Amino acid sequence: MASITFHGAAQQVTGSCYLIETQQHRILLECGIRQGSDRREDEYERPFDFDPSSIDAVVISHAHLDHSGMVPLLVKRGFNGTVYASTVTHGLLPIMYRDAASLLRSDYERKNRRLLRAGKKQVEPPYTLEDVDLALDAITGIDYGRTEQILPEVKIRFRDAGHILGSAIVELWLNDGARERKLVFSGDLGNNCAPLLSDPESVKEADMLLLESTYGDRNHRPLEDTLEEFREVIETASSSGGKILIPAFAVGRTQDLIYWLGQLFHEGRLGSQRVFIDSPMAIRVSDVYERYHNLFNRDDPRFRKFMTQGWENWLPVLTYTESVEESMALNRFKEGAIIIAGSGMCTGGRILHHLKHNLWHRKTHVVFVGYQAEGTLGRKLVNGASMARIYGDDIAVKAQIHTLGSFSAHAGQDQLIDWARHFQPAPRVCLVHGEPDAMRALQHRIDNELQWDVTIPEIGDVVTL
Ligand code: ZN
Repeated sequence: MASITFHGAAQQVTGSCYLIETQQHRILLECGIRQGSDRREDEYERPFDFDPSSIDAVVISHAHLDHSGMVPLLVKRGFNGTVYASTVTHGLLPIMYRDAASLLRSDYERKNRRLLRAGKKQVEPPYTLEDVDLALDAITGIDYGRTEQILPEVKIRFRDAGHILGSAIVELWLNDGARERKLVFSGDLGNNCAPLLSDPESVKEADMLLLESTYGDRNHRPLEDTLEEFREVIETASSSGGKILIPAFAVGRTQDLIYWLGQLFHEGRLGSQRVFIDSPMAIRVSDVYERYHNLFNRDDPRFRKFMTQGWENWLPVLTYTESVEESMALNRFKEGAIIIAGSGMCTGGRILHHLKHNLWHRKTHVVFVGYQAEGTLGRKLVNGASMARIYGDDIAVKAQIHTLGSFSAHAGQDQLIDWARHFQPAPRVCLVHGEPDAMRALQHRIDNELQWDVTIPEIGDVVTL
């Protein structure tokens, strides 16, 4: 009999990690990093809840680090099987992991300078670029729709989840000789309003469904309202000369924003604003997006026009800032500027420098376009914090904070229900990747409308299939 142990993203939205055990094999579904703790290092220094060398295979749904970020450490600590991901995720992971390793290197250089000054022993970063290379060698890409026997008892298939490029819904067939059970993991399901990607593919059969529930308690506002709100923010900032800061994941959100800003530019609604993508990683990710544009939702007529022009032609006021010097020069930039930088939840990265320099100005606007997990600086700002602690300094929050939910890369409540409705007959459902209130609201709705059996596992719970 097969079982699943919930090691992460159970009643929380980050750190996805589920251990599936059959009679002979152990498969790790997701190996993500937890975000939102005050000390990022703690997460890496914590031992895994299982022995990495006992895992036979890893399956990753998409390239976001809260789903994939612990793989280099898993390999370093003894995992020596294969990591399966979709073909495009396989193309994105080298960018993600190398960026993460260089961020870690600078974090640890800073930490070691502090330790040295205190007369203490220096410490090694949790993993290095060399460890990343070893992890990348272990990854195999599989195209959407292809069924692959990954172990004698286990087959998998990826379907397009429409969340970011390469994101997948994972179908797993587990055969213990006597019978076959099918597990479907929704991964992160896309928002049907996303401009570049297709809607999540529907799946019809499952014995058990692991369903994400990030927005299990609410629907996004209509897209047109959100676009209008965005236009108004840009207009206000244009007339006051304030900067607009947009914390965004380099993968997915940033490319969607280029699309929307291009649309506003062509409508003549960008004014004199220039747009800066302040992320060396986003440049490389945008290249991957261009390389795989055949996967985009090409039925969309707005998009057909877009693709014939390319990113920079679509948005001529776009500048990528790659070096640290270029990034710092943005602080001195006096004209209107829209700065898009990571990390998406303000847990690190260049956005922190921009927040530190601009959060205390009344004319600054901070626009949140993605989910802000409990415990992150992003969540504190969305909740109206009046002070923010950034790199050891207390910064007064005078800026205007906006949340544009329809730009989210996650399905809203109705979209989750509509996607789940395709399963016939009813699967057993475990809700994952959500905060408790959102999960309970979704559980209640599924119970009311579909009369399905829904559980909300806690960290460490074991469910048999
Ligand atoms: Zn994601």
